[in-house]
Amino acid sequence: MSSPSSEPQYSFATEEEINSFGKHLYKSKRILALCGAGLSAASGIPTFRGSGALWRGHKAAHLSSIEAFEANPGLVWKYMMDGRHLALQAKPNAGHEALAKLAKKKKKGFVCLTQNIDGLSERAKHPRDRLYSLHGSLLDIKCSNCSCDYYDKENLKDPLTPDLTGDDNLASFSSTATSEPTTSLTSQLFSMTIQESKKPVIPTSKLPHCPKCSSVLRPAVVWFGESLSQTMFDEINAWLDAEKRLDLMMVIGTMAEVYPAARFVQLAKDKGARIAVVNLDGGHLGGIQLRKQDWLFEGDAAEILPVLFEGTLEN
Ligand SMILES: [Zn+2]
Repeated sequence: MSSPSSEPQYSFATEEEINSFGKHLYKSKRILALCGAGLSAASGIPTFRGSGALWRGHKAAHLSSIEAFEANPGLVWKYMMDGRHLALQAKPNAGHEALAKLAKKKKKGFVCLTQNIDGLSERAKHPRDRLYSLHGSLLDIKCSNCSCDYYDKENLKDPLTPDLTGDDNLASFSSTATSEPTTSLTSQLFSMTIQESKKPVIPTSKLPHCPKCSSVLRPAVVWFGESLSQTMFDEINAWLDAEKRLDLMMVIGTMAEVYPAARFVQLAKDKGARIAVVNLDGGHLGGIQLRKQDWLFEGDAAEILPVLFEGTLEN
């Protein structure tokens, strides 16, 4: 116990706040988490700002669309491979690991939603039946033929094929605007503005093809204009509807501004949950209105989550 005159142990909250959260987490039986780009920041996955982001000089909004993929699958694959390479070079951090441990501890009482497509939560061994990747994963590969069910989960090959290499590419991605909120890699992939190249980067014959139906394979991420998986939402909603109450919702490294994230925060409040926000920038909480009973922990999720979960994971 620290005396009132001693330095606070952590910069992100007072001991009292950490303790009150810890007690609530320990006794919580129904917990929902929503994670975004801030969770992966300490792993070196950049959080992009603004809608003017570039890839290799392309103003490339439609690179993350089915239209672009149909017009030029080689270019889109090359773009996706850079993101995949970046994700595979990165390592899960203490925040991903703390969430994975909490999932094993709380079992069916904890559901974690992530907006990240970097696959780091999966690689931290977060139980897959307790984790919903809302925007898909760059590690998963599926068939571009929507009537074919071929799906290759957590493919860690890099390069994926001899022709499909990704580059050390932080320099390939850049952002232009600074006034807009930080977005995830997914949103950044979604939000590029296009200057489409008609020249294929890799010929279609050299792209991976489906072993079942021979169509071109594609990354299993949700592209602009595509819907999020209804099956996934049905499962999340079934878990939420199974009990009247929700005890706690953690919003980690995201401002929860976009659908469906914003909806979950409101739903959690309606079900009586206390809200805990962990965010690098406590001044930018988007649409989240914190109340007296909620918590704001401002800083790096990789530093904060292990401290917040410590008591629950040890007992
Ligand atoms: Zn197929």
